[in-house]
Amino acid sequence: MNAVANEPWGIDNLPYGVADTPDGGAQVVTRLGDDVIELATLAKSDNQRKWARTFGQSSLNPFIAQGHSSWKAAREWLHAILQDDARKDLVAAATKPLGDVDLHLPVDIADYVDFYASEQHATNVGSIFRPDSDALTPNWKHLPIGYHGRSGTVVVSGTDIVRPVGQRKGKDDPAPVFGPCVRLDIEAEVGFVVGGETEVGTRVSVDEAGEHLFGVALFNDWSARDIQAWEYVPLGPFLGKSFASSLSPWITPMAALEAAKAALPTQDPKPLDYLQGEGAFGLDLELEVRLNDTVISRPPYKEMYWSPAQMLAHLTVNGASLRDGDLFASGTVSGDSPDQCGSLLELAWSGTRPVKLSDGTTRSFLQDGDTVTITATAPTAGGGRLALGEVTGRVTPAREG
Ligand code: MN
Repeated sequence: MNAVANEPWGIDNLPYGVADTPDGGAQVVTRLGDDVIELATLAKSDNQRKWARTFGQSSLNPFIAQGHSSWKAAREWLHAILQDDARKDLVAAATKPLGDVDLHLPVDIADYVDFYASEQHATNVGSIFRPDSDALTPNWKHLPIGYHGRSGTVVVSGTDIVRPVGQRKGKDDPAPVFGPCVRLDIEAEVGFVVGGETEVGTRVSVDEAGEHLFGVALFNDWSARDIQAWEYVPLGPFLGKSFASSLSPWITPMAALEAAKAALPTQDPKPLDYLQGEGAFGLDLELEVRLNDTVISRPPYKEMYWSPAQMLAHLTVNGASLRDGDLFASGTVSGDSPDQCGSLLELAWSGTRPVKLSDGTTRSFLQDGDTVTITATAPTAGGGRLALGEVTGRVTPAREG
């Protein structure tokens, strides 16, 4: 037990996850140090009927559906009980070592959208995919570009990633060929979990976004670059992305990230009015990407061009409603320097400068058996850093037939 502040998994973090219980059900849990605390068990013993019901569920969705005031109240209850000597026996009885717990996908994902909010990433990909045109498309600085992805294939961290199969056509191939992807990549991203349903026809402003942003998770948008390059014109990503996207098992509440709020980079030209407001802040998250045993990148989230609130405002500006458990991801996080890129496409510049690993091998794209792990930290109010839940996955060979 470690109810102190300013530590990676201290009292000012308290992320939410979902884990098995001994009786075969699942319940909502939080993490303190290297322990997991079962929140339905704890609420029951503390005579908190509402929280016992809310947390005695196999996903965070019923909690997310209760809205912002409930998220705040739950966090206040947790802060109080975890620091109360008089109730420490109740906490101890609900506590297990992290290693004994099996964590599930924490949210039943409703709709999933992926954005493209890093100017550096968009510039790099534009230069690689469209060398003869401007790197940024004419709309890029006027709206947060995104596409609707496949929520049903968002998987929890630790799930193996089967190499996808599909069509590709290299520029010198006379005709498309079919087979396992040969340019399998990662995208290091940050995901935002949304709650507080809205009606079709209404929209959420930049300044209302805070009421709907429940929490943050690390996200790997695995990408089959060869399938993507052949299929994406004119409608955007499809099968090159939809085979799997990995989500960390811990959702860090937005309330834990107050000290991480940061100014956005200068937005020039000024976005249209509906994309402006006090809620348009950035987040000072420092990501780290490991391929097997080698740290290959340290992407800085602080440099992202578009704010989460702007992405949410744009996502709903046409009247598209929000559902509890919606997930939108930031797009690949890439910084200014070559070792801050969130994809192998950029790190190895489309295969022209392979990345060296600590075992002496090199990678332009992922090989079968490779494991990719993304971690991140954020500043705390007291000058420490808290950890976001890691997202990891191992590539397994394509399946035949
Ligand atoms: Mn992506």
